[in-house]
Amino acid sequence: MADKLGDWARTHTCGELRPADIGRDVLLLGWVHKVRDLGHLVFIDVRDRYGLTQIVVDGDALRDRAKHLRAEFVIGMKGRVRARAAEALNAKMPTGGIEVQVTELKLLSEARVPPFVIADDVAASDELRLRYRYLDLRRPVLQANLGLRHRVTMAVRQYFDSQGFWEIETPVLTKSTPEGARDYLVPSRVHPGQFYALPQSPQIFKQILMIAGTDRYFQIVKCFRDEDLRADRQPEFTQIDVEMSFATRDHVFSTIEPLIQQVFRVIGCEVAVPFPRMSYAEAIARYGSDKPDLRVGMAIADLSTIFAESTFSVFRDAIAGGGVVRGFVVPGGAGFSRKQLDTLAEDAKSLGAGGLVWARRNGDAVQSSALKAAGEGAIRAALDAAGAGATDLLLLACGPADAASKVLGHLRLTVARNQGWLKADEFVFTWVVDFPLLEWAPDEGRWAAMHHPFTSPIEADMDLMEDDPGHVLAQAYDLVLNGSEIGGGSIRIHDTALQRRMFSLLGISDEDAKLRFGFFLESLEYGTPPHGGIALGLDRIVALLAGEPSIRDVIAFPKTAQAVDLMSTAPTTVDARQLRELRLRIEG
Ligand code: ASP
Repeated sequence: MADKLGDWARTHTCGELRPADIGRDVLLLGWVHKVRDLGHLVFIDVRDRYGLTQIVVDGDALRDRAKHLRAEFVIGMKGRVRARAAEALNAKMPTGGIEVQVTELKLLSEARVPPFVIADDVAASDELRLRYRYLDLRRPVLQANLGLRHRVTMAVRQYFDSQGFWEIETPVLTKSTPEGARDYLVPSRVHPGQFYALPQSPQIFKQILMIAGTDRYFQIVKCFRDEDLRADRQPEFTQIDVEMSFATRDHVFSTIEPLIQQVFRVIGCEVAVPFPRMSYAEAIARYGSDKPDLRVGMAIADLSTIFAESTFSVFRDAIAGGGVVRGFVVPGGAGFSRKQLDTLAEDAKSLGAGGLVWARRNGDAVQSSALKAAGEGAIRAALDAAGAGATDLLLLACGPADAASKVLGHLRLTVARNQGWLKADEFVFTWVVDFPLLEWAPDEGRWAAMHHPFTSPIEADMDLMEDDPGHVLAQAYDLVLNGSEIGGGSIRIHDTALQRRMFSLLGISDEDAKLRFGFFLESLEYGTPPHGGIALGLDRIVALLAGEPSIRDVIAFPKTAQAVDLMSTAPTTVDARQLRELRLRIEG
């Protein structure tokens, strides 16, 4: 039988007591972490969110009670703090200088044998950990992650408040929004056959808030996207959503940069601002990605001119066919083994590259996988042009420009990862700007908005929209940190006529636009201030701050890659009565 808590109130947490407290009478409450029964003495580590304290039980009656305690039982104890014996001092534990000698013990709650040990180096499978998430969350690492997330959200709120932003809630039961993913739908009981959509983002509402005159809006908000889950995506995720009236891109940047500084101060990291800016075109060409990881250099250079006339037919033909030869230098890579080079070539092949060529200097001579075919002159010229030194390695690939850069960009990251050059505690930011407004969706045979349909083209390109849509640049931007897109936004269209032109470019008929966004188009006609904003991914930011590779480890109750909550077992079937009420019938 469990004891009652009664009037027991803790005097300290389990992470608090220090040698300065020796002699003090204390009351602790917490979970049994570990029991060590020495026969005449029982040592128990008691755990709570704040840490672990060792308690010592002796004396017959108390010891008999203590012997029945098992891991994860919840106990209370009164006792006196004393110094640990010299040989028992534990410098790794903040409370390792003391222990508490128990005078009274209460068992407040028993526990079933947990399916895994509550420790940071837990060996349990991900499924088991998610099924028993409440036990998983007791692990100190996850407790720390939740605490970090809390401090980050507090920093965000304080920052925006200090800048005159208001946090305004927007509806969760709403109409389909334009982010381009599949909506989660909620059937309406009151309006049979009609559905709400869960917001993919508050995009339209935050723009309407600008029309409503709120001037500066932010919200820490859940967004929902029913996508086939790629690695490390969650069907519901949290954004720091921001919108500002009369904002230019520079206003948005100079608002967000100090926010990021504040957030990184939470982990004691001072971030330098302003962040550098790189065009989308440059990011793709030089890093093969629109989210370049700039913790390492190894930028990709175009070496086509060297090989256009060379004897190496693979490269020469690629260039003649409108393609390019590009490459990057691996500092100190001349020492790579045959096996390492072969593996990289395999990687390149699996990415669809025609082939990978390597080159390096060897004293006065040069070596290359294409030495015979290309000749020493071309290889030497390439090494010189790329700036490869005596101990460096040059990796080359050919193909259509974007494809060649993509392959090399991938290899660049593989090399950096294998060499241990991507440090989790180094944070390198860049804004990626000047995105194309549109991208061709081959499956649908039409243009699609690269960001979303409310993003404004740059003013100089507005006249090109109909004649050369593929070359129109958008006033869109992403914030990239260590190869992750941690935010994205744009200056919006605030003019109804331009918005209509955009819809028609996207193949959205007037009728369709009216049906889907009619209320929004109408609101634009009532005096819309120029405005713009951004949304930052809170989950990803906290994961990067915590040094966690997966956002799952910074979300209290995440879902699996199959969008299942293993703990609550959602989604599930529902009662026939509920379906009837909603006038729904399940087929198949
Ligand atoms: N609503 C956009 C998104 O969720 C961000 C923005 O344009 O502010 O990606």
